[in-house]
Amino acid sequence: MSEAFTAEVLEAGRLLFAKPTRFIMGVAALEQLPPGDMAEIAFAGRSNAGKSSLINALTGVNGLARASNTPGRTRELNMFDVDEGRLRIVDMPGYGYAKAARKEARSWQRLMKDYLRGRIGLKRVFVLIDARHGALTADKEMFGLLDSSAVSYQLVLTKIDKINAAELAETLGALAETAKKRAAALPAIHVTSSVKGTGLAELRAEIVGLAADAS
Ligand code: GDP
Repeated sequence: MSEAFTAEVLEAGRLLFAKPTRFIMGVAALEQLPPGDMAEIAFAGRSNAGKSSLINALTGVNGLARASNTPGRTRELNMFDVDEGRLRIVDMPGYGYAKAARKEARSWQRLMKDYLRGRIGLKRVFVLIDARHGALTADKEMFGLLDSSAVSYQLVLTKIDKINAAELAETLGALAETAKKRAAALPAIHVTSSVKGTGLAELRAEIVGLAADAS
């Protein structure tokens, strides 16, 4: 589970996401990336893991992350700005989609690799895991990519409203073991439900610690 956050940090997280979040651009090729020197976090996850729902729930902007689910945008890095430059959020394309053509999958992987390796401001990647499925092969491939890129990452369980307490404990235990063995994975795991709002305050608190200081 994630560590406990003080009331002050929870409040700072709430305040960050009470500020405007806006879509900046979709990036399909590396040369389109804006400079990577500001504080940035990214969200990754299998298609359907609940990434758009979580980004929308965190920011309170409905439909914000919808662009990443519309055809043509699914292979892009979608970038958002929070509070006028305090933080950039990158919505990475969903992976593990069986219908993706091989060639497309390869070019996607190249973009991911180049992005992950060259981003100085990238503080952390949050890897979303559907609580009903746990970490699957495609997730483990993503962990491998993050480990080899030396990008710090943290697991976020999604849709926990869909499982019971015993299933949650089991999934969390297995994921904690996985995280322990991974070079760049942080041990703390976030537990969320975008539908019920569970864990959002804690995730905002985690994220504000990675943003630039408030002016
Ligand atoms: P993405 O492909 O990773 O962006 O996934 P979406 O955010 O589009 O979510 C995929 C499906 O899971 C949709 O039908 C959502 O309504 C559903 N979903 C997402 N988050 C939750 C959640 O916290 N609880 C429940 N019950 N369903 C969710």
